[in-house]
Amino acid sequence: MIQHIFRKAYLFVASMNLRLHFSSKVWSTLDKNKRAKFLIRVDDFPRNDLSFGDFMEFHKIMNNYNCPYLLGVTPFLPKGINKKELDFLRSHKFHNVDLSLHGFTHEKLGDNKYQGEVDCYSLAEVEILTQKSKSFFSENNIEFPDSFIPPFNVIKKDSFAVLSKYFPYIMGGPLSVTTLGFYKFLDRINTSLYIPSYFPFYGYVKDIHQKISCISMQRDVVIVITFHWSWEMKDNYSSLIQFLDSYSDRVVNYNDAKINWRKVTNEK
Ligand SMILES: [Zn+2]
Repeated sequence: MIQHIFRKAYLFVASMNLRLHFSSKVWSTLDKNKRAKFLIRVDDFPRNDLSFGDFMEFHKIMNNYNCPYLLGVTPFLPKGINKKELDFLRSHKFHNVDLSLHGFTHEKLGDNKYQGEVDCYSLAEVEILTQKSKSFFSENNIEFPDSFIPPFNVIKKDSFAVLSKYFPYIMGGPLSVTTLGFYKFLDRINTSLYIPSYFPFYGYVKDIHQKISCISMQRDVVIVITFHWSWEMKDNYSSLIQFLDSYSDRVVNYNDAKINWRKVTNEK
């Protein structure tokens, strides 16, 4: 209980102060004469309840702004991945999109709010599903991602350690504070860099837009902003368009984000 109060208090205060997203060690390396840039992480490709055509409406908007993003792909969704979706993944570079592994089936396997998919498997199952995913990508001639996005942002330390053997970058979000702990952006956990997207960088684009315009973003670092393309359908993407009007010139691609992260954490 007390843990949840601390978690909520931390996320609330951090939503108003960029400093609280970083350890002192990393914060001290960040040049304050430059404004932060953004990597956009887009979760949930494909989705059980929506079509590839629905996704392409979102993608076309991103494309109109020439805006790159990192797409969270789930290989073993109950409905599977169809041919058009596989073609899109195969040609992701052409579409200005990079890929991340967003869980395996994206099913919520536990009953309580703080349970998701990955945390409900045994460590041996996490290992087997990661190997199965690798085979799936290679059989379909798609480059295997070097990053992992836990579904629902629920990840625990033991499954994180297993995934760390395969993924140099592991992402998180607000719920990870409860399940993993109070880790900061660019902390090293096991052999991975931890890349969370806490508030105000997570949620509906409308809220993200409003809140980031209220905090100082004066640091030379690439922050991850997380969208869910399906959530943005509700206002016919008008919040997304407004966001891109204001910020698309500050969005970088995944490769440039990694270069920045390695620089600020003093890694090769
Ligand atoms: Zn998801």
